[in-house]
Amino acid sequence: MNDQVKVACNDCKGCTKCCENMEDTIILDPYDIWQLTHKLKISGGGRVNFDILVSEDGPLELGMHDGVILPHMKMVATEDENVGVCSFLGSNGRCSIHFCRPGMCRLYPLGRIFEDGEGDKVSLGYFILNEELGCPIEDTSYTSVDSWLGYGDKEKYQDYLIKWRNVRRALREAGEDMDMDVLEDILLDMLGHFFAHEYGEDFFAEFDNLYESWTSGGN
Ligand code: SF4
Ligand code: SF4
Repeated sequence: MNDQVKVACNDCKGCTKCCENMEDTIILDPYDIWQLTHKLKISGGGRVNFDILVSEDGPLELGMHDGVILPHMKMVATEDENVGVCSFLGSNGRCSIHFCRPGMCRLYPLGRIFEDGEGDKVSLGYFILNEELGCPIEDTSYTSVDSWLGYGDKEKYQDYLIKWRNVRRALREAGEDMDMDVLEDILLDMLGHFFAHEYGEDFFAEFDNLYESWTSGGN
């Protein structure tokens, strides 16, 4: 994650391309939900929780992503019938949750790949999205992937990403030969286990425990 990438555009300069018409492609993971539930408040001052986030009036929706039910950003209609924008895009054209925006938004315009090595070794690789999907700003400068993401606990985050990838892959593979009703129950169970869990302050330690119980079949 210390790789240097030429992406830092300094200022989006009125552009909202990556917050518009993204359909269901901005997918969130449990760490994203933890960020939102710990940093956003509902009117009245209480904490946001997963059920509120994915409720009918909430900013997220559930959808099937590569064989797994996961939350994604909801796009909302605008005056321009051709444009739907992320629920969190402010009327000033800025992200209203910049401080706790999801990992996919932090990563953009980079994509991430998991490279399996020997044994259970996995490394992460990054690439710049192509012209169609990527950022139109040309005046960029170099930064490290770590700085670009802006998360502390780099090693823990990377370890978490790999474990989360393992969960998704295991569910996808298990679902290939499974009756849809049975699979749906398992996927909803997974949502309750990893997303609706009320995490405390130490997300990574709690996720490790949940991962352990999930992989040992004790969820
Ligand atoms: S596409 Fe690039 S310039 Fe436009 S909002 Fe996204 S990051 Fe900013
Ligand atoms: S969360 Fe923020 S950065 Fe991400 S799509 Fe929505 S408005 Fe854009």
